[in-house]
Amino acid sequence: MTMKENLVKVLIIGSGPAGYTAGIYAGRANLSPLIYEGDQPGGQLTQTTEIENFPGYPQGVDGNEMMSHLREQALRFGASIKSRKIVKVDFSKRPFVCEDERGEKVEAETVIISTGASAKYLGLADEEKYRGLGVSACATCDGFFYRKKRVAVVGGGDTACEEALYLSSLAEKVYMIVRKDYLRASDVMKRRVMEKENIEVLFNCNTEGLYGEDGVEGVHIVRHLGTDKEERFDLAVEGFFLAIGHRPNTEIFRGQIDIDAEGYIVVAAPTTKTNVEGVFAAGDCADPIYRQAVSAAGTGCRAAIDAERFLLAKEEL
Ligand code: NDP
Repeated sequence: MTMKENLVKVLIIGSGPAGYTAGIYAGRANLSPLIYEGDQPGGQLTQTTEIENFPGYPQGVDGNEMMSHLREQALRFGASIKSRKIVKVDFSKRPFVCEDERGEKVEAETVIISTGASAKYLGLADEEKYRGLGVSACATCDGFFYRKKRVAVVGGGDTACEEALYLSSLAEKVYMIVRKDYLRASDVMKRRVMEKENIEVLFNCNTEGLYGEDGVEGVHIVRHLGTDKEERFDLAVEGFFLAIGHRPNTEIFRGQIDIDAEGYIVVAAPTTKTNVEGVFAAGDCADPIYRQAVSAAGTGCRAAIDAERFLLAKEEL
């Protein structure tokens, strides 16, 4: 394939609601966008079950179903989709050069970054050891396996409370492992958690490790770490759920575009422009505040329009 054949007007990196919506809009603008779906086609929503807050679905919709609808809609308007991951980019000059995991290069007049965010882990070796064997970062995906069992949720924010509440309807007992002496979550979520009889909040507690023969059988916990009240104990649970926030998937763009201290891509709001002309960012990778499917879809739309206007201004359309 010659370089010319490998040149696209709009390259979209990532396939959550932001990426597919950018694909729909860029497709309808006749820009023949190319979407690299990455490791998790459909993004975070494919890890949830029911989505009840996306407008247009009064009865709620299954996350996978909604993402396959968005994908289909992007294809209908002429987007091409590759089930590959971009691992390296060079934004130093246009056309931009992006490389996938097989070393294949694609050149692009404009790039829309919509790589989303991923759940954070504590960084313990045991999380790797027991991944899929009791360790999870998605209660709605895996909670079903813990019916009538004992589970722990790490974190004290709204996500942790939501996960604990969800699990409390399935599991026999839910422990929340919270490192501070308070829950950071909103008042309404705190109240719901406190009112649930089978949720117990363990304040001032940190996880040191996990144990178990073929899967998680419990957690090694330390309470009041680093104080004279420090104590260690084991908590018997079969499920260990992380709910300590998310990290934007922006590693490969480091050094190429402006990224803030937490890893979010900096955009010139209300546009989706990054500091590199012709590179735009949409969805959770550039959104430390809202992180909703519908807001991601909204910025995907904006990014496609921004890319189209950029190309028009350069008279490349
Ligand atoms: P947050 O950043 O709000 O909370 C993260 C929690 O994890 C905190 O309790 C934090 O502890 C804890 N934590 C972080 N790192 C560690 C660690 N290494 N070890 C132990 N504990 C750790 O993230 P969320 O995902 O909960 O929420 C993100 C945003 O989304 C928030 O704005 C939230 O309000 C919103 N949201 C709203 C929902 C709703 O309204 N229904 C549902 C879900 C999210 P500490 O407090 O000590 O820092």
